[in-house]
Amino acid sequence: MELNSASIEAIVKQVLASVNGVDSAAAPAAKGVPATARVAMLTKLEHFDIKEYPIPALGDDDILVRVEGCGVCGTDAHEFKRDPFSLIPVALGHEGTGEIVKMGKNVKVDSAGKPLKVGDKVVTCMIFKDNPDITMFDLNKQNVGGADVYGLLPDDDVHLNGWFADYIVVRGGSTVFNVSDLDLDSRILIEPCAVLIHAVERAKTTGILRFNSRVVVQGCGPIGLICIAVLRTMGIENIVAVDGEDKRLEFAKLMGANASVNFKNHKGIEALTEGVKDAFGGYLADFAFQCTGSPVGHANIYKFIRNGGGLCELGFFINGGDATINPHFDICSKEITTVGSWVYTLRDYATTFDFLKRAKGIGLPLEKLITHKFPLEQINEALETNLKMEGLKIAIVNR
Ligand SMILES: [Zn+2]
Repeated sequence: MELNSASIEAIVKQVLASVNGVDSAAAPAAKGVPATARVAMLTKLEHFDIKEYPIPALGDDDILVRVEGCGVCGTDAHEFKRDPFSLIPVALGHEGTGEIVKMGKNVKVDSAGKPLKVGDKVVTCMIFKDNPDITMFDLNKQNVGGADVYGLLPDDDVHLNGWFADYIVVRGGSTVFNVSDLDLDSRILIEPCAVLIHAVERAKTTGILRFNSRVVVQGCGPIGLICIAVLRTMGIENIVAVDGEDKRLEFAKLMGANASVNFKNHKGIEALTEGVKDAFGGYLADFAFQCTGSPVGHANIYKFIRNGGGLCELGFFINGGDATINPHFDICSKEITTVGSWVYTLRDYATTFDFLKRAKGIGLPLEKLITHKFPLEQINEALETNLKMEGLKIAIVNR
């Protein structure tokens, strides 16, 4: 073993933790669990402080997880910039994953009934609040929009409430999944992928999306790119990507699009529509996924869809303003079937684990979506990189 200053520090922390006899009343202390953990706390707008808190005693239903990594979400960026949920001070990070280092004595299985043990890799989803409408196996009736999640909780005396940290305390009543069979990059991508699993489930309710459908995906940020990967993985082959950046359109092809249209090369909506038609060999799309947060993007997308086609609008995760459409030309006379999609259900979350394996199986390099990895102490840089829209998925990865 190579002894550098970081490993010496880790050893000192371990020794201190065992000398201090952390939490001796609870289950036998797992080896290597330190006395304290670092948490990236958003203490004011556009500023995280790395705080150190004692790791608390675990309740009988709780799980202590050593964080391995966590994706930076658009929601984190909004919170960093404007605190729209008035949560400051807050431990952010909800796209996280890590290894169980300690469990309360009542914890035996995950939310899907799979056994759990120390050393298993897990992710969390929502935290139940005695809501009878949200259960594991009857889920499609409600998405998790109103539920609590780690990484967006008000601070409390546990403090270890977000995944931008060394450790997180997963309390009883939370949903947790054993995902030991997925690699770290895949696990970091579960949450954004669940958004697309849900969107495609919503799209399927129209009855229009079929194996041989011509599908246009507008917007090639992480959401649009994952959308293409989900469609490709479920067997849809004829996908046209629309975006304004050639680099992203190249990436769309890696994810499974077979043609792309850069809207900057087409002046006006008629010319752009012709561009989309040409990409499909002279046809309009049977189905469209709108993945930009742009009102103009929403207004334009109807033009790309054939009479009797369908649309899934999922770009407006937050309020992006009003869009102007012509209901006669865009919806009525074309008989377009439209669905909206927002976040996901708990069932979609579990479906996502299998999607990630299938995507890998057909050779889609999803891990390339993670373009930047920062250590926890560079969390401010990570969020700034996200705000500058550099790269695709930014992640915090602990060593
Ligand atoms: Zn997210």
